[in-house]
Amino acid sequence: MSDYILNKDYFIAVIEDLIEMAEEKKEYFIQLDSAIGDGDHGMNLSIGFREVSKNLEEWKSEDINTIFKNAGTALLDKVGGAAGPLYGGFFMKFGLPVKGKDEVTFDEFIEMMESGVAIIEKRGKAVVGDATMVDTLRPAVDAMKKAYHDDGCSPKEAMKIAMEVGAQGSDSTVPLVAKKGRAMRLGERAIGHRDPGSASSAAMLEVFYKHMP
Ligand code: ADP
Ligand code: MG
Repeated sequence: MSDYILNKDYFIAVIEDLIEMAEEKKEYFIQLDSAIGDGDHGMNLSIGFREVSKNLEEWKSEDINTIFKNAGTALLDKVGGAAGPLYGGFFMKFGLPVKGKDEVTFDEFIEMMESGVAIIEKRGKAVVGDATMVDTLRPAVDAMKKAYHDDGCSPKEAMKIAMEVGAQGSDSTVPLVAKKGRAMRLGERAIGHRDPGSASSAAMLEVFYKHMP
């Protein structure tokens, strides 16, 4: 599958759908964050992606990295709380491995995902099991690598596996005591609640899957 290419249209479709997803799931993320946080996760994402939406048209002539760098900067600038810098960092680093390019191979796409998730881990210092977005993203990216590199899956199959493993990762936060972020303060009272960031990350992976050729 070395001739498999993800072009700029794919990435723009993903961003446009992330903007829609943030609106559609706003109440759901608010609900999740109200249970174990301060209830702003849905609002935070909505504000961030609305800012992206305002400027996306202007960015479309840029290369993939610049588009994501601009989106990441918008999230970083406009979104308060933990998720702003974390998702902002993700998008700022996402395109870095393919700087200057207008289309990428699936190997490069995997590098992009790795680059984005690595900055979340670095900034947040969370590991799998801390009940954060890392519980979704790290297993998802690892599963995608294994599926594509070791198990002979096609890119779309590998992304599907990433999406499914990410959703399971989000599910895995339900019985956990949070070890990072606001929910940490709740201790055992966080048990039985899904981490909001793990849910928004799972929703983002769905968007990346949905538009993949
Ligand atoms: P805040 O917690 O500041 O109100 P949000 O509600 O927007 O910000 O985001 C909360 C989410 O951010 C959590 O559900 C969790 O997934 C994620 N999060 C918080 N702290 C960290 C961290 N240190 N590392 C990774 N993710 C984190
Ligand atoms: Mg919050």
